[in-house]
Amino acid sequence: MINTLDLKFHRPRTIAAYLVETSVGPVLVETGPESTYPRLKAALAEHGVTPADLRAVFVSHIHLDHAGAAWRLMADGAPVVYVHPKGAPHLIDPTRLWESASRIYGEQMETLWGRPGPIPEERVRAVQDGEEIAIGASRFLALDTPGHAGHHHAWVTDGVIFSGDVGGVRIGGGPVVPPLPPPEIHLELWRASLDRLRSLEAAEIRPTHFGAYADVTAHLDDLEDRMFRWAERVLGWMREGLDEEALIPRFEELVAEELRAAGLDEEALAEYEIADPAWMSVPGLVRYWRKVHPERVAGA
Ligand SMILES: [Zn+2]
Repeated sequence: MINTLDLKFHRPRTIAAYLVETSVGPVLVETGPESTYPRLKAALAEHGVTPADLRAVFVSHIHLDHAGAAWRLMADGAPVVYVHPKGAPHLIDPTRLWESASRIYGEQMETLWGRPGPIPEERVRAVQDGEEIAIGASRFLALDTPGHAGHHHAWVTDGVIFSGDVGGVRIGGGPVVPPLPPPEIHLELWRASLDRLRSLEAAEIRPTHFGAYADVTAHLDDLEDRMFRWAERVLGWMREGLDEEALIPRFEELVAEELRAAGLDEEALAEYEIADPAWMSVPGLVRYWRKVHPERVAGA
């Protein structure tokens, strides 16, 4: 049994945490940001669960909308958090992570994401690719799935993929869009991660943004197609000499057009924009092209 907890980050259906029942008690997949921790606690309480009742917490990666509240859960009695090895140090000491996020978000930092806090080292478990964590009769398989971030695991249990951000953003059954923030976007690695997820032939995918979908292969195909198309559009504009400031409104227009063409209304567009801000994907893509394919930016 899996319950979707809507953390209502600015709007409904933008960030989820997933409460999974196991034979020995509940576990949580993803925590949302610290700023929605009161909402997370209330959502847990609706299911009769306190943080201290959790047997474990799993996070896909350490971006603040996924793991920002992990330290609060630990402070309130959750026993252990499972995370990618490259993410673990940043849960133990979040100083550098918060500094780098502050460079993107500036003064909005606290309003958006809340506050940082450390987790005692012995309660942060780094999980290797392919490792399975047993919680009662359930098994949670870690799959190293880079592309969105270099420190990203998808967690797989009982035919369900918790895809974090590598499975894209999809709200209310709409199009699957790629979250492309700097600094670690890598489209070829991302495609390999999608191949890996497709090969599981899973029954369901649950992206953190947002909900549960049974059309797993179509979902992943849609994401892959859109990701490469959008990246090529941005590359084209870069080659015309547009800088990031000029790229942002063009990219926002491209995203909005595509979502509207899929039949989404303005409210749904706003939800997508909160879950996956278009302005953030521009620097992510620009960095990807310059770093990974400088020859294509130059026009070769
Ligand atoms: Zn995210």
